[in-house]
Amino acid sequence: MTISQAVANVCTVSGMTNNRQLTPNNSIENKEICLLGTDCVIKSQVSLAAYTSYRVGGPAQWCVAPRNIEGLQASIQYAKTHELQVTILGAGSNLLVSDCGIPGLVIVTRHLRHTHFDPETGQLTVAAGDPIPALAWEAAERGWEGLEWAVGIPGTIGGAVVMNAGAHSSCIADILVSAQVLLPDGTLETLSREQLNYTYRTSLLQGSDRIVTQATFQLQPGADPAQVLAATKQHKQHRLNTQPYHLPSCGSVFRNPKPYAAGWLIEQTGLKGYQIGKAQVAQRHANFIVNCGGASAWDIFHLIRHVQHQVQERWSIVLEPEVKMIGEFQTAC
Ligand SMILES: Cc1cc2nc3c(=O)[nH]c(=O)nc-3n(C[C@H](O)[C@H](O)[C@H](O)COP(=O)(O)OP(=O)(O)OC[C@H]3O[C@@H](n4cnc5c(N)ncnc54)[C@H](O)[C@@H]3O)c2cc1C
Repeated sequence: MTISQAVANVCTVSGMTNNRQLTPNNSIENKEICLLGTDCVIKSQVSLAAYTSYRVGGPAQWCVAPRNIEGLQASIQYAKTHELQVTILGAGSNLLVSDCGIPGLVIVTRHLRHTHFDPETGQLTVAAGDPIPALAWEAAERGWEGLEWAVGIPGTIGGAVVMNAGAHSSCIADILVSAQVLLPDGTLETLSREQLNYTYRTSLLQGSDRIVTQATFQLQPGADPAQVLAATKQHKQHRLNTQPYHLPSCGSVFRNPKPYAAGWLIEQTGLKGYQIGKAQVAQRHANFIVNCGGASAWDIFHLIRHVQHQVQERWSIVLEPEVKMIGEFQTAC
């Protein structure tokens, strides 16, 4: 394959080997690289603030958002050829991206979309990039039970499978049948729920180099849509009443150190409303740190560390972040 690029950042012809000027090592601002045989365009210096629910974060050195498996495979191959570190981003709703940005290639999965409701089996097969809330509403409208609890989780299916996302005493592990993953060598593999080693907000996929491409869930069709919709609405309303949905956040910052709730420990430590820069421990729910407008990742990172320190001092409990922090946080950018 060869790479080519037209003027004014417009990609005209695809390719990978002919034009040395366009290799990632020879970094030129705002470059675009088309991957031959796909509709994938790899862009340089893409701000990730728009790709995370915190609305913070510096640029990706390179960023691509494939629309199908072929595009994803080509992107992985490109990273391999150019020895670029790969970072996967779903909806970015459980991420804190450093103000310094992320080196290598960021692959955004949110354009990988397809859904199939199989009425024979009651199984829903869905691509990694599909948003969970939309699926929960669609299942409810069809009278399929099993996803009502997930309506308030603003992530993609891929992120939810990796994180074992959960709410209202249910979680992904309860309904997952299998997940299809892309391996670093470009081949696809199907893993059963048992193979994913699920525990609380954890799976085998965290920290691994496998990319979730789709997942199959067991739901229960045949219920009254009005009832499933009512339950779904109730779950959504509960969220709106108890969590600061109106401000950018990553949801719960810390895992609950059972038998305690992290939010309770933080509240009892007197940290509700505590602020560093424009990052604040939410008044409505102490396990949320919100961006009050104009926060930096640095503000949020240091508030996380402050909360951990204070809670440890008071309770001798180390709060473990649920949010994934990526990029450099130790030094100034
Ligand atoms: C307002 C709010 C409320 C929330 N409420 C909840 C809640 O009730 N319960 C809950 O569990 N979470 C909650 N969250 C957190 C978050 O929505 C979940 O963790 C969600 O599952 C993350 O999905 P994502 O697509 O945004 O993943 P991202 O944040 O983009 O990524 C999370 C991790 O998964 C990896 N990843 C993402 N997609 C893939 C893929 N396709 N293949 C391989 N790795 C991948 C990333 O590299 C990263 O390590 C909330 C967040 C917000 C902002």
